[in-house]
Amino acid sequence: MSEIRTVCVYCASSDQCRPIFLDSAFALGTLLAKENIDIVYGGGSTGLMGRLADGAIAGNGHVRGIIPQFMQNLEWGHKGISVLEEVEDMHTRKFLMIRKSDGIVALPGGCGTLEELLEAITWKRLGLAHQPIVIVNIDGFYDPLITMLQRTVDEQFMRPEHLQMWHIVDSVEEVLPMLRSIEPWPLNAISYAKV
Ligand code: AMP
Repeated sequence: MSEIRTVCVYCASSDQCRPIFLDSAFALGTLLAKENIDIVYGGGSTGLMGRLADGAIAGNGHVRGIIPQFMQNLEWGHKGISVLEEVEDMHTRKFLMIRKSDGIVALPGGCGTLEELLEAITWKRLGLAHQPIVIVNIDGFYDPLITMLQRTVDEQFMRPEHLQMWHIVDSVEEVLPMLRSIEPWPLNAISYAKV
């Protein structure tokens, strides 16, 4: 069982998606705040990012946004969160988001979210990150990616053990129980093993 104090959330910046996704982000923010779990995220004010922060703020939760300077210059940062940390670039942002968290959650999103999720999985495989990773497969959004990841194992680009690097839930209500139930990842054991 993992102790979860801070959760890193990857999610969309788009406002144009279906309400089910936006509402789920708000609900996750509220749920984490209610459980006194801090959130670290990309610091944005739009899309699922904004709704996640709004939900946490509504529940008096602590939200840290980490945003690169160029986005802050464009005034993309959320103005109501507890801490908005400005960093030099995207790489620093993603590094700190992982480093400051005890668990990683991916809600639906675009290329930015997918890239962040795959980077976290990659780091875990390399032994550079150990956190539980939970993919929230709302309305089957992540089905094609789950199939693709299985394919990487079927084609022997990864080992079957690597499928345990992430866990999948269907709703935000399942996120925290799942994060807490995941056994610590054996750093440097499976992750460094050759395919
Ligand atoms: P996407 O899933 O493509 O919307 O990307 C989400 C990620 O893209 C965020 O974590 C950021 O890295 C970045 N991003 C794109 N647009 C924004 C925005 N308006 N405000 C903050 N971050 C953004």
